[in-house]
Amino acid sequence: MKYVDEYRDREAARNFARAIARITTRPWAIMEVCGGQTHSIVKFGIDELLPKEITLLHGPGCPVCVTPLELIDKATQIAARPEVIFCSFGDMLRVPGSSIDLFSVKAKSGDVRIVYSPTDALKIAQENPGKQVVFFAVGFETTAPANAMAVYQAKAQGLRNFSVLVSHVLVPPAIEAILSAPDNRTQGFLAAGHVCTVMGYEEYIPLAQKYHVPIVVTGFEPLDILQGIYMCVRQLEEGRAEVENQYLRAVRRKGNVPAQELVTKVFCVVPRKWRGVGEIPQSGLGLRHEYAEFDAEQRFGVAAYTAEEDSECISGEVLRGVKKPHECSAFGNRCTPEHPLGATMVSNEGACAAYYRYRRFEQRVAAATKSES
Ligand code: SF4
Repeated sequence: MKYVDEYRDREAARNFARAIARITTRPWAIMEVCGGQTHSIVKFGIDELLPKEITLLHGPGCPVCVTPLELIDKATQIAARPEVIFCSFGDMLRVPGSSIDLFSVKAKSGDVRIVYSPTDALKIAQENPGKQVVFFAVGFETTAPANAMAVYQAKAQGLRNFSVLVSHVLVPPAIEAILSAPDNRTQGFLAAGHVCTVMGYEEYIPLAQKYHVPIVVTGFEPLDILQGIYMCVRQLEEGRAEVENQYLRAVRRKGNVPAQELVTKVFCVVPRKWRGVGEIPQSGLGLRHEYAEFDAEQRFGVAAYTAEEDSECISGEVLRGVKKPHECSAFGNRCTPEHPLGATMVSNEGACAAYYRYRRFEQRVAAATKSES
């Protein structure tokens, strides 16, 4: 398949791994920001190809994982209302709230529908004028333009029965939060290619300079990731801290400017809570005053609701690269994809789900061997 097979070539991957080994002289810890990259790394065993000096840390770039518990609770409260049709991407339905998830609301006769874009939700609102249609607008900068367009169109059409429950998050403030934490281990980043397709990469330059870390905009296929690691290690070994672009086939320095303008028209930057991490200043998007009438939190009176997170789940440490999923005592026993305690075990991009899907048997063997010796 064009643009897939050529980025999964085994021999080219081995050559990249050998090239990384040749330039590596000491230990380095590199974080891949995006959960899609984490899944590629674990699925294809990219970390196992690398020299032992290179540690890959898994970052916070999974929108489902970082959506705060209280937003899930707000979603379930709104979705349970008889006048509401609640629309969401499918992977949000099994994310556990404090006591219930959206699937359970659906099972108890709530009208919860899986959609593939916010435009689908807009159409449902047009077709159901007697219902309140709410779209769960989650994601990083990548999904913000489509969500902004839905709100913009709803206003233009005077649609009174459409609103959005917004939980948008931004990558650069999360990188800054990781770098400024006292327990930070990350020395270089692979930035998420799809986010930079929209936003470009100029906003990473001050971060690279302030914290003296290389940041390499990287794609998602195995060879993309290996090349991104190579570029990052080369900078680290040479003492450079620059922003470089591995994902040249998709990312331009300034990104998609019309998409950015649309996002800025509808959304403004706000503080945002990240699940397991807490509030990060200026790390999210909220609706601008001009579009406040489409804010589902206000419309359904749930804005003031707060919730405490489960203390057993260490997903915050996993999302900041401080711990790996199998270091959680609940991993694979009390927490599985069928009975998740945290969102990182639910999402297709969650690090815990990746380790469960591709590594859990290896880890059981390693644990058994350790206990026998
Ligand atoms: S294994 Fe489960 S409980 Fe542990 S960090 Fe991951 S999601 Fe949380």
